[in-house]
Amino acid sequence: MKINLNPQFAKLGESFFSNIQATPLLKNPHLIHENSALLNELELELSSAELTKILSGVAAIDGYQALASVYMGHQFGVPVPRLGDGRAILIAEHQTSNSETWELQLKGAGQTPYSRMGDGRAVLRSSIREYLASHAMSKLGVPTTLAAAILHSHDQIIREQIETAAVVLRVAPSFIRFGHFEYFARQKQPRQLETLIQFVCNNYFPEINLSDSDYVVLFLEEVVKRTAEMIAHWQSIGFVHGVMNSDNMSILGLTIDYGPFSFMDKFNPEQIFNHSDSEGRYTYAKQPYIGWWNLYRLAEALSTIYAKTDNLEQVLSKYSDYYNQKYTTLMAAKLGLSEFSEDDGKLLDELLQIMQQEQIDWAYFWRKLSYGIVGQQQLQLDYPSLALSNWYRRLENRYQQQALTPEARQKLMLSNNPALILRNHLLQDAIEHAKIGDYSEMSRLFDALSDPYVESDICQKYYKPAPRDAAEIILSCSS
Ligand code: AMP
Ligand code: MG
Repeated sequence: MKINLNPQFAKLGESFFSNIQATPLLKNPHLIHENSALLNELELELSSAELTKILSGVAAIDGYQALASVYMGHQFGVPVPRLGDGRAILIAEHQTSNSETWELQLKGAGQTPYSRMGDGRAVLRSSIREYLASHAMSKLGVPTTLAAAILHSHDQIIREQIETAAVVLRVAPSFIRFGHFEYFARQKQPRQLETLIQFVCNNYFPEINLSDSDYVVLFLEEVVKRTAEMIAHWQSIGFVHGVMNSDNMSILGLTIDYGPFSFMDKFNPEQIFNHSDSEGRYTYAKQPYIGWWNLYRLAEALSTIYAKTDNLEQVLSKYSDYYNQKYTTLMAAKLGLSEFSEDDGKLLDELLQIMQQEQIDWAYFWRKLSYGIVGQQQLQLDYPSLALSNWYRRLENRYQQQALTPEARQKLMLSNNPALILRNHLLQDAIEHAKIGDYSEMSRLFDALSDPYVESDICQKYYKPAPRDAAEIILSCSS
C-alpha cells in the first residue's frame, strides 16, 4: 500500500467534523471494479485485496483519523440547519509527487453523527450510477468528483425493497460544499467561517491574496465563475443533475453527489428526473438559474463576516456573463463555428425549439450533425421535418461565411459532440446485470465511456438513441 498522507482538512479542528470509523460490511464484500488508470494517475498503489479491505471498512488507513464533516443546505429552497456527511467518510488526504492533494472518501460506509434517520449506506444501483457517471463526466471534460473503485457486498439494505450494499471510493481535491459555509454563518461562528474560506483559498485558489481586505469577494468570484462554467458544461451535454440543493454544490465547481441525475435522451428541457421534485425545480431548463440561486445563498453566508454587501452583489451579477461566455463557446464548437455571434444565438434557439417539438435525441443529433451533409441526410430520415431541413440550409449558409475548412469544422465538431453519453437505459442494463452478479456489462460500458468521442466497436447499441420501449426512469434522491 502506498498512500502519501498529508492531512489538511483533518487539521481544521473539531468544529468542522467528527472522527468516525467506517462500519464494516461483512457479507461477501467483493470489489466489482477499480479505475486503474485513475489510481495510477493519483500514485495510489493499492492492491485489489487492500482496496477490498479498505472499501468494506475492515481496514482503516494507518496514520489518518477518518472523519465526517458537518454542513447544512437549502433543500428544494428550504434551509435545513444541519446535514453533514451522513454516509460519507473521509479516510485519507493524499499528496502526489507533483504536490496535488486528493481527498479519499468512502460513500456508503455506515452511520456517522450526521446520519439523522439514515442507515449510512448506499445500495448497489445508486453506487454504480455514481461510479459510472463520475467516469463519464470526467472523460467528457466536465469538472467532477471522481471514483476510483466500487465494492459490492451481500449485506442487506432496506429501501422500498430489500437491496444489497455497495461502497464507492470517491476522490476529489476537496468535497467542501456551499453548505459548509452556510452552516457556520447560521451557527454564528464567524471565526470558523473565515477559517474555512482561508482554507479553500490557501489550498485551491492560491492566486487569491489573503492580505487583500476584499479577499472574500475574490473568493466568491472564483466560485461564481467555476459554478457558471460547470453548469454551462452540463447544458452542452444534456446533463440534468436532478438535486441541486446547496449542500450538493461543490465549492470547487465540481459536479458532486450523483443521485437522480440523467443524461437526457430526447431533448425536453422541462422533464423532471427526480420524483421528489414535484415542482420541477431541478429541470434542465432551470439549472442555470438554480446555480445562481445557490450562489446567492453562499453570498448571504459570506455577508455575515463581510459587510460590503454591494461588492458581493456585484460579483453575483457577473454570473450570467461567465455562464454565457462558456455556454456560447461550447455550443459554437458543437455547431462547428469558430465564433458565436448574436445571429448564431438565434440560430441555436431556433434549433432548440425544433428539437423540443420534434423530440429529437440530444447526443445523437449533435453527433450526426458533425458529419456534415451526410449526417444531415441521415437525420432527415430519422427526423423528417421541414423546419429542420430549412434550418440545415441556414447552417450551411452560415458555414460559408466563416474561414474554417470543412475538415477543420468536422474535427472541431467530432471532438465536441460525444458519440457516447451515459444513457439511462445503458446504465440500467449494467445495473440489472450487476444485481445478478454479472459485472461484465458495467465493465464494458466503463471502457467505452473512457473515450466518448470515438465510436468503438465495443458495442454498437451504445451509439444509438434509446429504443422506444426503454422505460422512462424516474429516480429518487437518496438510495
Ligand atoms: P443527498 O440528497 O443524497 O445529497 O443527501 C442529503 C443528506 O442526507 C446528506 O446529509 C446525506 O449525507 C444524507 N443521507 C442521504 N442518504 C443517507 C443515508 N442512507 N444514510 C445517512 N444519511 C444519508
Ligand atoms: Mg448530498
